[in-house]
Amino acid sequence: MRTLIADHPLISHKLTTLRDERTDSPTFRRLVDELVTLLAYEATRGIRIEPVLVSTPVAEATGVQIAAPKPMVVPILRAGLGMLEGMMRLLPTAEVGFLGIVRDEASLTASTYADRLPLDLSGRQVYLLDPMLATGGTLVAALEIMLARGARDVTAVCILAAPEGLQRVEAAFAGRDVDVTVVCAGLDSHLNHVGYIVPGLGDAGDRLYGVV
Ligand code: URA
Repeated sequence: MRTLIADHPLISHKLTTLRDERTDSPTFRRLVDELVTLLAYEATRGIRIEPVLVSTPVAEATGVQIAAPKPMVVPILRAGLGMLEGMMRLLPTAEVGFLGIVRDEASLTASTYADRLPLDLSGRQVYLLDPMLATGGTLVAALEIMLARGARDVTAVCILAAPEGLQRVEAAFAGRDVDVTVVCAGLDSHLNHVGYIVPGLGDAGDRLYGVV
């Protein structure tokens, strides 16, 4: 597993405002959107491309285009939805699938309640969107689904990660036939007793969309 903490000063600046409990939902949504576009630039560094010939007004030029099959972007509902537009801004030709995974707040186990993904993901690069990589349960569940459908190249784009979550994902997929990359804006200290990232930013879904 590869982990990339994007420590660009603009990313760190936006992340700091995101953490601030005084940041209201409209500002929080806008900052998540901007942050994800910046993270997407790093997350797509390994995107598959193929050569293409174009005619400029002056001459022919060889360039590149994103290779087929199209990459797949998968926000994990609900909080991952707040990351979708920011990702699609850089990857407008990607296709979008949806996964609904909810964490039981008592047992911290993840269960899948919605699955709108192609049955066959072989050969496709997948970008999972989930703002908080906390215990890692949600990401492991999502990655297992991707793997079972044939995906072998999956990048998770997160805003914040905890060491416990990264270790869990690493342990779950070590030695298995899948390339997993995690790209995030910050790696925090630890999880608290209810599985929240410390210092974190609170409940990302609630801060994006309100308390349910
Ligand atoms: N989910 C969140 O939204 N925040 C956390 O800190 C952990 C999980």
